[in-house]
Amino acid sequence: MRKIISIILFGLWLNSFGQQGPFTEQDSLRGSITPERAWWDLNFYDLRVQVDPEEKFISGSNTIRYTVLKEKQKLQVDLQYPLIINKVEQYGRTLKFRSNGNAHFIDLQKPQRIGEIHEVIVHYSGHPKEAVNAPWDGGFSWKRDGAGKPFVATSCQGLGASVWWPNKDHMYGEVDSMAISVTVPKGLMDVSNGKLRKVEDNGNTKTYHWYVSNPINNYGVNLNIGDYHHFGERYRGEKGELPMDYYVLKEHLDRAKIQFKQAPMMMEAFEHWFGPYPFYEDGYKLVEVPYLGMEHQSSVTYGNGFKNGYLGRDLSGTGWGLKFDFILIHESAHEWFANNITYRDMADMWIHESFTAYAEGLYLDYHFGKKAAAEYTIGTRVNIHNDSPIIGPYDVNKSGSGDMYYKGANMLHTLRQLLEDDEKWRSILRGLNKEFYHRTVTTQQIEDYISKRSGIDLHAFFNQYLRTTPIPMLQYAVDGKQIRFRYTDIVADFDMPVKIRVANNWYWIYPTANWKTETFDTDVRSIEIDKNFYIASQQL
Ligand SMILES: [Zn+2]
Repeated sequence: MRKIISIILFGLWLNSFGQQGPFTEQDSLRGSITPERAWWDLNFYDLRVQVDPEEKFISGSNTIRYTVLKEKQKLQVDLQYPLIINKVEQYGRTLKFRSNGNAHFIDLQKPQRIGEIHEVIVHYSGHPKEAVNAPWDGGFSWKRDGAGKPFVATSCQGLGASVWWPNKDHMYGEVDSMAISVTVPKGLMDVSNGKLRKVEDNGNTKTYHWYVSNPINNYGVNLNIGDYHHFGERYRGEKGELPMDYYVLKEHLDRAKIQFKQAPMMMEAFEHWFGPYPFYEDGYKLVEVPYLGMEHQSSVTYGNGFKNGYLGRDLSGTGWGLKFDFILIHESAHEWFANNITYRDMADMWIHESFTAYAEGLYLDYHFGKKAAAEYTIGTRVNIHNDSPIIGPYDVNKSGSGDMYYKGANMLHTLRQLLEDDEKWRSILRGLNKEFYHRTVTTQQIEDYISKRSGIDLHAFFNQYLRTTPIPMLQYAVDGKQIRFRYTDIVADFDMPVKIRVANNWYWIYPTANWKTETFDTDVRSIEIDKNFYIASQQL
């Protein structure tokens, strides 16, 4: 998810994720593939949690099933203070563990042989970190609905899922499937990821058993507790019938029934651009929460007030941003870029946010036309700061600049111009979702794929927009029938062609770091640089 709009929110976002060093041992334990993580491959989580909203207390267990890749006896599990591990078990034996901050190292007794599948059960409890400003500074949001009933939700991108349940809290590995069972006081319902398999009545409480049949990243797992009311529909999509279910508070049911008409419109637009919804087996859900929203896989959470724009605002200043519900569209686009294609390291978070910010324009493109999309995406440049590179530092669980949203979106919009072939561009976007289906990836893999499919060497292009801060400056001078031009503020080998208009005709020019001259048939009184290219310009 992650959306910034105002400078204030933007700053908070940077504070929580974008900070640069110095990095601590805890940052490395959390952000790198430590030896105690590398030797075992995640298969399955069976997470069981009981939530007491009155006491703001949780307790439960996570059974971690894994395959042994290398013979080691020490296994790292993450769980954040103030939650504590009460007990760790394997095959009925209680195991010892040593804690280093939020990383816990379990001494396994049974020999771990390559290829074997084992389970370890971690029991835990406590008062979890309360969200300060969900979803940016997340944790548990303990709120109440209009009738005074508990309205509770988790959010943990960046912070990590270990803020509320024990797991291998690194993005490189995902389970193949997951069971989530949440016990709540009677009269309330839990909505989590995947499909609801069973509801158990325990007397004073009820247990909701959810099941995710697909790989899922840790921060995508969520619980949402409230007095929910449900409505839904069945969407006929590219892979058949997709259940689309909506859970909202009763007080918002009427408004939701109108606003969520955009959900099938979203599905139609994004299946067109990105290919089939990646989680047909798990269905798609929109779940109302007491914060803005987040891309929780197959249970996208929503708190945008049932109105268009970003909390009613147009982030582009063009009017087009009020044609859609920002949270519904943006967070749902993450099903393709974030949940289907997932970054391995948070430094590469642009893979989630650049494509998703760009998807806002593609939604407009599908329903309102190409011109609307271009105006919107160009309009969102007002949110770009060009303060630091989009890619952040690796192995310390930190992301790069917030420019990963709209600078990234404009980079992709610029790339579309370079291709000059919208069908090819669409086939690349769909191809990414096929090539990297349910996988975690690096920036390099995405770059290589786009370069290969487009037939353009985009090495310098991506270096410019992702790995350095300034944007290319096109300097030019007009003299009679000639123009002279060159780029400044560029990385080595940057030579992106750009379109200019001279006397009502569009021409490609091929600037580099060196001055070049182009001669026209008539006097060049003035030139117009195609605004679709995200560059700066200066007439000398
Ligand atoms: Zn996002």
